[in-house]
Amino acid sequence: FVTDLYVGRFAPSPTGLLHIGSLLTAVASYLDARSRHGRWLVRMEDLDPPREMPGAAAAILTTLEAFALHWDGEVVYQSRRHHLYAAALAQLRAHELVYPCYCSRKTVQAEARGMGVDGVVYGGRCASLSTDTCLCADKMPAWRLRVGAELISFLDAVQGWQQQYLTSDVGDFVLLRADGFWAYQLAVVVDDAAQGINHVVRGQDLLVSTPRQMYLQQLLGLPQPTYAHLPLLTNALGQKWSKQTQAPALDLHRREALLRQVLAYLGLPQAPQVDSLADLLGWAVQHWQLERVLPQAIVAVQ
Ligand code: GLU
Repeated sequence: FVTDLYVGRFAPSPTGLLHIGSLLTAVASYLDARSRHGRWLVRMEDLDPPREMPGAAAAILTTLEAFALHWDGEVVYQSRRHHLYAAALAQLRAHELVYPCYCSRKTVQAEARGMGVDGVVYGGRCASLSTDTCLCADKMPAWRLRVGAELISFLDAVQGWQQQYLTSDVGDFVLLRADGFWAYQLAVVVDDAAQGINHVVRGQDLLVSTPRQMYLQQLLGLPQPTYAHLPLLTNALGQKWSKQTQAPALDLHRREALLRQVLAYLGLPQAPQVDSLADLLGWAVQHWQLERVLPQAIVAVQ
């Protein structure tokens, strides 16, 4: 029995309150799921306690409810799913696809500079290290995945064709950090599969991560969802709205105006007068067309 039920999700990290950029992601993933009679799940990506803001997870859920963005089922918290990530790592380890890495962040950066590459591509210093001879064995290692040389390409529903060589663009990447926290790349792949997610609609900043996730899906024998990466919302300086760029939290007194603003960014025509936010969302579900979402970044003033 094959089911073609659409399952989508919104997966915020509780590092801060929702802002206009995260509202855009929540609304687009919600509309895409509901317009296809699908399920829409919420997963709290609370994997990195040092970066989290106390109370943010609860505040995000309250804000979603306040915008009438009602999810299906129970909210899943990544902080309670470490056993699933450990099982995936063990599976990769059994096939010798991962190795412990003792390099400090500084070493990795210095090595990357030496190779003349932009950004940080891991040069593979620990890839052939024998754990018996390593002098740093009293240190907790990070665990890295050996990447393959093949070109990874896919069709993104908003951004078009994408391709990436993991070896030259990323290098062997971390699945478990030396400080004991799980890396986003592994957790997102394990959870998308475990929750039966078959459509991922999310922010454009994650487009660059998608080939890594597809590679992990292949190695773990997991199905591949389709991907749609939404346009980035920037401030007047062209910076992505985020906590670092002081994105203001959503003003709940202006919910209808904010929702209308986001619907316009997503290419929807102007909505009629409505009695409630639920009605506005219902109208948007009827008129939603993913093809109308343009890939280019949008300057959003609040
Ligand atoms: N937790 C990630 C974020 O808030 C999103 C992960 C995803 O959608 O894959 O940026």
